[in-house]
Order: sequence, then structure tokens, then C-alpha cells
Amino acid sequence: MTDARATDEERAAVDELLGPPPEDAVEGRVTRGGHEARELRTQLLPTLHALQGRIGWISEGGLNYVSTRLSVPPAEAYGVATFYAMFSVEERPRTVIHVCDDLACRVNGGRELLASAAELRGPDAEVIASPCLGLCERAPVALVQRAGAGRSDVALAGPVTAPANLAEVIGDREIEPPAASAAAELLVGPSAPQAGSGNDRTLLRRVGVVEPTSIDDYRAHGGYAALRRAIELGAEGTIQEVTDAKLLGRGGAAFPTGVKWTGVSEQPVHPHFVICNADESEPGTFKDRIMMESDPFALIEALTIAGFAVGAEQGYLYIRGEYPLATARLEHAIAEARRHGFLGEDVLERGVRFDVELRRGAGAYICGEETALFNSIEGKRGEPRNKPPFPVTHGVFGKPTAINNVETLLNVLPILTDGAAAYAATGTEGSTGTRLFCLSGHVERPGVYEHPHGVTLREVIDAAGGVRGGGAPKAVLLGGAAGGFVGPDRLDVRLTFEDAREGGYTLGSGVVMVFDQEIDLVDLCLRIARFFRDESCGQCVPCRVGTVRQEEALHRLVAGRPIGSAADELVLLEDVGQVMRDASICGLGQTAANAVRSAIATFGLFDGGAS
Ligand code: SF4
Repeated sequence: MTDARATDEERAAVDELLGPPPEDAVEGRVTRGGHEARELRTQLLPTLHALQGRIGWISEGGLNYVSTRLSVPPAEAYGVATFYAMFSVEERPRTVIHVCDDLACRVNGGRELLASAAELRGPDAEVIASPCLGLCERAPVALVQRAGAGRSDVALAGPVTAPANLAEVIGDREIEPPAASAAAELLVGPSAPQAGSGNDRTLLRRVGVVEPTSIDDYRAHGGYAALRRAIELGAEGTIQEVTDAKLLGRGGAAFPTGVKWTGVSEQPVHPHFVICNADESEPGTFKDRIMMESDPFALIEALTIAGFAVGAEQGYLYIRGEYPLATARLEHAIAEARRHGFLGEDVLERGVRFDVELRRGAGAYICGEETALFNSIEGKRGEPRNKPPFPVTHGVFGKPTAINNVETLLNVLPILTDGAAAYAATGTEGSTGTRLFCLSGHVERPGVYEHPHGVTLREVIDAAGGVRGGGAPKAVLLGGAAGGFVGPDRLDVRLTFEDAREGGYTLGSGVVMVFDQEIDLVDLCLRIARFFRDESCGQCVPCRVGTVRQEEALHRLVAGRPIGSAADELVLLEDVGQVMRDASICGLGQTAANAVRSAIATFGLFDGGAS
């Protein structure tokens, strides 16, 4: 411990969350040991959020107080506080404007906005460049954090066309914390455009139709029919239905959900946990956000079904920190579900015990990796763990854990209400059901679109109105920054898991980012390389060093100052990429070279080809 003391305001922020210190505490500290002390640590991330949100930064004194209240060694608390981009351990203004300069925003004026927003800097406001904020359909966008009592950050939907636009919104008036009410839409603009092809809106069927804050409206639109059927079927029957539907995970790995649930349900060790991975941070991905903002009860119902199926009484919903409206909507939905007996000690009065805790990330892409997410919930740095052991046996708190992403869980609802056979009749033999795609970039109508698996890339782009201004795209980024670029000659590829495997591309998180003929692909590659260099957790050498070397080599090529020849640098890039793929601990390092490699291979960058 250092001698620094927390201010009254810092103590109040922490105490508001944790309650007043016990009466026998000295300077907030009481002597505890064993389980009692260790169990407190899971509160570290929420407590740091409380401090950051109230004060605007995390001081040494504040950190000391958090450490004493939670019995966490200060060095470890510091390690966690400095891991996340949304926390600052250096004093900064109470208002911080994060302007997105990631892919979808930078091709829609994001860089210009960032440059001009600099005029808003001052003693009261800081402006910083941000990786993707998950609002790509409204690019360019910004997120404003404003410290103060209560949660005070708010997403500003774009298009934010000028700093005046930002100043006008943040101006003199107080920023309302995002409420669960529909009025919050006013702060984030109108509902995102979304559509499906023909009558294929399955996951999106309630989006824009149902009132997201009303559990009655949700029930009037079919809500909680799936949970009732699950309870009728029993846990085994529910898992069998999901298995028969051949549901594959939509998080990128395409693992069969039924196999995962069976594995957890059979573990003799208890308790079991279920987790919804809503840490949607892949650049270009925003479908989960729209689902959570527009149909939040559906996710709570689906997670309840997962918990019932695998024998878990506790679920966690881990949402990325940059989604204030979705967070507010889900908090409201959880409270409403509890109030109406859909969560709690006796769900639907059928003897099922299950509850959900919402955990908010704090700006770390790597926390979307499942084991990093476990560490984050446990109050540790969000660094991935070695696998095996796998989450099925050793997940969060070392217990059997079923973790699924938002879209995967939402698919469980139609499987149960329509039946596995009806569900599996959509899509293809190897990729059943529909898929949500995030259309952004230079596309005419950006938004979330739902199509059956087997649709072609061309059809997906055409459904969104094609390239803005007409013509053919020069390139499409498929699957996100961890995915790859495809050229116009591959627009007829079918979007299924099996076709992607055979064709050497990936559906990833459903990103379809379209670029017109004027696009500067070298600039996009540099941004992607910077993204991975920034987001690498630094735990393993291939990724920590490889992502830096990749970016350096690209900069040398761009500057025309290669070490040796340009061809030598391209060989080096290939080698670095291969080492990262082969030797990195987790998917971040394993995929960090994909997009750059595909751009070089497809478009002949630095080769006298297009750039
Ligand atoms: Fe961390 Fe990268 Fe290694 Fe993953 S691959 S553990 S992000 S350093």
C-alpha cells in the first residue's frame, strides 16, 4: 500500500456499490481470509467502474481503498485497472470523447471528425481515438464518457458529421444517463435499419416491433413460450432438441451447441455456470448490440433456458463496456423478469432456480475470448488461459461452464417454439438456421440483415442496396478484422460454415464490410495491424512481438523504406503471420495476420498491384 488516501467522493463511489465498510473495519479494511476474501475479488471490475464513473479516473488513493475493501493486493488491482481502455489511472477531464477511427468510421469521415474534434479539447474535455464502437451502421460515431454521480456515459450515434454536432449534444446540458425507457433512443438516434430477405426474419422478428422495455409486450409477441416448452421437455429433452436442430455456435468457432451443453450438464462437479458472451468487439460487428437494445427479454429468456438445460443456477451476461443503452435495457429486463417470476428462486413456479448477473466490460477486445472473459469476471486481468482444460470442465471460478454468444443463444428460442425439425429445414445440411450479417462501409443501407445460411455474398450485399453510388465493390471484408478481404470475383461464394471451410474464408462474426473502388486498402491494413498491436494482451511472445513486427513491416513498405527489398518484407510478413498462427495462445494472435495476408494475396499490395 502507498500512503495515498481516498477522497470522500471516492469512498462514496465505492461504498455505494459495496455498502458501508463493516463496523470492525480500520480504514475500510477488515481481516478476512480463505474463501471469504477470495470471493470478494469478483467485485473488482464493477468497483473500478464505480470509481471511474464517479470521478473520471482511478487515483492511487482510490485504488488503495478498493484494495482494502476487496482484500485484493494493490499491485494486482493496479494490474487490472491498467488492463482496460475505459479506465485511466492518470487524472483526466470528467468528459472524455471517444471518436471511432476504425474501419467503418474511417471510410465514412471518422478521421476527419477526429481531427476536427480536437478543438473540443480543454480542461473539461479530452478527445481520444477509439477502436470500433460497434455502431458501424451509423458511422462516423463517438462515445462520450462523463463522470459524475450515477452512470453517466452515453453513446452518441452518428452520423456525427462535425465537432459542432458533438458540441451541440454534449454542450452545456447535462447528459442523461441512458435510461431503459424508449426516450433513450433520442440520444442515440432512430432505430438501426435492419431487414431480412422475404419472410426469413426469425431472430429479427421482434426487432422494431416489440417495445423493448415491456415484458408484457414481449409476452404478447411470443415471449417465454420457449422457456415453458423447455421446462416441459426437461433438461435432457431441451438439449436433445438443440442437438437435433444442429445448432452451431455463431461466435466464430462453429462448435455444436448441443455437444457443449451435454458436456457441461454431465459434469459431476457443481455448481455449473452459464455465460452469455456479449462482449461484441470485433470491428464491424454490431448485431448483438441491436438485438440487446431491441429485444432484451429474448436474451434473458434464452440464457435462462441454457441454465436450466445444463443445471446451472447462476448465469452471467458479460457485455462490452461501450454499450450503455444495451446495458440499461438488459438491466431493466433482468429486473422485470425477476419481478414477474421468470428469474429467481422458483422460475415459472416450476421449481427451477436461476438468476442472471450482468457484468460490464471496460474496453478490451480480448475479453471476447472465453477464458479471458472468465478471468475478467473473476476480477483478474482479462488474459486468456491455456486450453485444455476447457470451459466445459474448468470455466469461470474453475467450474463447469457453458458459454455462448448472443446470436447462438437467440437461436435456441425458435428451436424450442418451432421444433428442431422446422428449424433445421432452414439453411443447409451443415449450417442450419439463419444468420445475422452486419452490413457497413460503403453500402447503400447499412444495418443488420438476416438471411438463411446458403445465401451468397452478392445477395447479402444486394439486399442492403449494393455499393453506395452504384457499381461493383473493390473489396469486401468478410468476418471482421480477424476475417479476411475478398475481391469482386468471389461475390458468389455461399455463406455457410462448410463452404467457408472449403473456400478458405470465414464468416466470423457476420461482418460484411463493403468498400467501393476508391478505397485505400493499404490504409485499412495499417489500421487493422494497429488494432491487433493495441489489443494483444501481451501474454505470449508470438502475438506480443508479432503484432508489432507486422505493423512495423507495413509502415516500412508504405514509406518505401523496406529492409532489403519489398519482396523481402512480404516474406517477413508471411513468416510472422505463420508464427502467430502456429504459436499464439489464443485466437487473437492466431488470426491477427489474416486480413493483412488476404489483402496482400488478393490485391497484390506492395507488388505493383492495386492499393
Ligand atoms: Fe494474449 Fe495475443 Fe497471446 Fe492471445 S495470442 S494470449 S491476445 S498475447
